[in-house]
Amino acid sequence: MFDLIVIGGGAAGFYGAIQTALANPELKIAIFERGKTLLGKVKISGGGRCNVTHAEFDPQALVQNYPRGHKELLGPFHSYASGDTMNFFEERGVPLKIEADGRIFPKSDSSQSIIDCFFREAKKLGITILKNSGVKNIQKSSEILGGWQVTTANKHYHSKKLLVATGSNSKIWAHLKHLGHTIIPPVPSLFTFNCKDLRIQGLQGLSKDVTVDIMPKTYYNPKIHIQLKSKVEREPLFSEEGPLLITHWGFSGPVILKLSAWAAKELNDFHYIFRIRINWLPEYSFGTMMGFLNEMKFAEARKTVLKSKITELPNRLWIRLVKASGIDAAQKWADLSKDQIQSLATELIEGSYKIEGKSTFKEEFVTAGGVDLKEINFKTFESRILPNLYLAGEVINVDAVTGGFNFQNAWTGAYLAAQDIAKN
Ligand SMILES: Cc1cc2nc3c(=O)[nH]c(=O)nc-3n(C[C@H](O)[C@H](O)[C@H](O)COP(=O)(O)OP(=O)(O)OC[C@H]3O[C@@H](n4cnc5c(N)ncnc54)[C@H](O)[C@@H]3O)c2cc1C
Repeated sequence: MFDLIVIGGGAAGFYGAIQTALANPELKIAIFERGKTLLGKVKISGGGRCNVTHAEFDPQALVQNYPRGHKELLGPFHSYASGDTMNFFEERGVPLKIEADGRIFPKSDSSQSIIDCFFREAKKLGITILKNSGVKNIQKSSEILGGWQVTTANKHYHSKKLLVATGSNSKIWAHLKHLGHTIIPPVPSLFTFNCKDLRIQGLQGLSKDVTVDIMPKTYYNPKIHIQLKSKVEREPLFSEEGPLLITHWGFSGPVILKLSAWAAKELNDFHYIFRIRINWLPEYSFGTMMGFLNEMKFAEARKTVLKSKITELPNRLWIRLVKASGIDAAQKWADLSKDQIQSLATELIEGSYKIEGKSTFKEEFVTAGGVDLKEINFKTFESRILPNLYLAGEVINVDAVTGGFNFQNAWTGAYLAAQDIAKN
């Protein structure tokens, strides 16, 4: 018999158990973890450094990082957000640092500092931790009115309240579905794009601020779309601006990771075969680039196109794009045809690249999908369908772009659930 059973010994589970015990030390609390390791994802998170949260302290701006959950998390973030997370760890002897891009890590650069902090707190607060205790079934308790019974391989346990913090676990989703919840089908988020295009072969390590569009299936040949395709057919489905990194398998960098999150469902529908359009010089549009190149034709008339430095593009990339435009190595600006100028403008501003598959981003990846947000009370993270059952972390249909935002969802949900559990 427990006051609270937490299913899942991960980020949300530990935070929820600790916050409940802090708010009401009288309660008997247990964490059930199916594996023999606790906080496994925290350990490997952020490349082993654990990007605990992000230095974004305005809730309105913070929610913009959640492709799923931005509307629902606004209220919760007004109650508990990044600053509160920082206080929690710093007050418990885990100093944090903010990096230039806003990501927050323990000063130790080791996720073990976070794990040790959780273990210390859980021990101090008398939280029972049961490892190798995978929950096989969840049902209404016959012993506690309004309570829950959870069943492991060989035992039944009863509890007044239940916090489900099982991350992206399909079996628990199936149980919750059976109990009446709607589960949004899970799809991967936060991945990089595979591309074998010759224009980027050998350019790994090259990074540039760009705009990337994900194009609809109707968009195809960049050389003919200008004349043949209607505006709607050329309209991007998703568009993001930011640093792009060429890797030996294709494209990565913040702009790609953001797109992989916002377009997670659509790209899954496309089976990860689609086209992107890159504007390598986002300060130009196709029209202004045409104007600029036509000026160059006169201003740089006697110079070789390949050897000119007319933009801030890295040389190696400029050479590739000039060649892809059908311009000869020795050709001078004055000799460019109208078609060649148009072709070069297309390569620079609307370069089309075929993406064939995705790769895992090692630092952080998540699953989009989970318990339908309409079925959760976001003041308390209690299920609207199953009273006394709370849900926090990746089990719900919330996911974020990379940068510490996924953990912040776990901390916020677990904290608010804990306040309600402790109160009642
Ligand atoms: C490689 C990697 C790096 C990441 N890095 C970052 C980062 O730096 N910053 C960031 O914000 N996010 C990061 N993330 C995402 C982040 O780890 C998750 O969003 C977060 O862990 C979700 O917390 P959770 O508690 O909901 O789920 P989890 O941390 O996955 O915990 C769920 C726990 O429940 C247990 N469980 C499942 N089913 C059962 C069951 N039936 N019975 C008992 N226990 C069960 C699991 O074994 C697990 O321990 C990373 C993810 C990965 C994969």
